Amino acid sequence: MSLIRCFIAICLSSEIRDSLENLLIQLKSSKAGNIRWIPSENIHLTLKFLGEISPENLNTVKNLLLDEINHTQPFEISIRKLGAFPNISRPRVIWIGVQAPDTLFQLQKQIDERTKAIGIFSDTRSFSPHLTLGRVNRYCTVDQTKVITALLKQTNYPDDLGSMHIEAIRLYKSELTRSGAVYSCLAEKKL
Ligand code: ATP
Ligand code: MG
Repeated sequence: MSLIRCFIAICLSSEIRDSLENLLIQLKSSKAGNIRWIPSENIHLTLKFLGEISPENLNTVKNLLLDEINHTQPFEISIRKLGAFPNISRPRVIWIGVQAPDTLFQLQKQIDERTKAIGIFSDTRSFSPHLTLGRVNRYCTVDQTKVITALLKQTNYPDDLGSMHIEAIRLYKSELTRSGAVYSCLAEKKL
């Protein structure tokens, strides 16, 4: 039986993608090496990574998303500051933070609880809305790490990289290929 790698996420507006693309051009032109930057068309706000699931489970998730997630009002998000997981001195995942109202947190919690109830567990950490921009190679040296930390602290960018009105959430399939992940939308739930 073939498993399907998938996740639930919010797709970004072309305005936000454009401002992230400009920021990425700036970040890529720095001396920082050993980072795998995400192509701007692939940047999204993950609500739940489902991992590799069976076609049956995928179907259940699709129905759950379309029919069982309680009606949530559309809401606004804004793109804020650069940061890193686990922290800026030990950057592994480079991201830009997302400011959002409680509605987003409630929506994420609802999705997490509903999917856990059918046996899909993923992140145990609390939800911290972010857009992953790049991943640091794990063989990065101490000196290279310092350059990345400085880059995150010193890059100049607008306080507001854009805001958008969120009216839908999507279920995506992710195929990992040699040239990176390829995402395709399997279902869309309008808010
Ligand atoms: P690649 O793995 O090639 O770097 P990617 O991480 O963008 O690409 P996926 O690994 O399929 O693609 O991940 C899809 C989404 O789910 C991304 O937003 C990713 O950050 C998130 N994700 C992946 N693995 C996990 C995990 N174990 N826990 C939480 N989120 C995850
Ligand atoms: Mg991944």
